[in-house]
Amino acid sequence: MRILIVDDEPHNRTLLQHMLKALGECDLAVDGREAVEAFAMAFEDQRPYDLVLLDIMMPEMNGQDALKSIRAFEQEKGLSGNQEAVVFMVSALDTETQVVEAFFKGHCTDYVTKPINRDGLFAKLQEYGTRLGLDQNPLA
Ligand SMILES: [Mg+2]
Repeated sequence: MRILIVDDEPHNRTLLQHMLKALGECDLAVDGREAVEAFAMAFEDQRPYDLVLLDIMMPEMNGQDALKSIRAFEQEKGLSGNQEAVVFMVSALDTETQVVEAFFKGHCTDYVTKPINRDGLFAKLQEYGTRLGLDQNPLA
């Protein structure tokens, strides 16, 4: 599985990379623009990302806009339903406005609130286990 971790704070990128490296190859992006570019490049290389973890508050392009760009790209390529990447918004901002925007306008797959806790994140990932091709229990 290929994973794209997107966060403008180095500490958060490292933390997520640490938690997820056992599940697959992790790439890092520092803002939304870089994330959208990496996402498109991986698709063109025929090695698309299966999972994207997307921070919301970032310079250049924020996570909400990056999410919309990623979904627009997938649509343009004719990908839908389970062919779409699993995209988790990872943010300290869990206000209703942010959550509604991420789910209904951006079509994120799920939403995780910071501070990130490994067990919580893995439980969420497990919900999409089949789609991500995860083993029965990634915590084991
Ligand atoms: Mg941020």
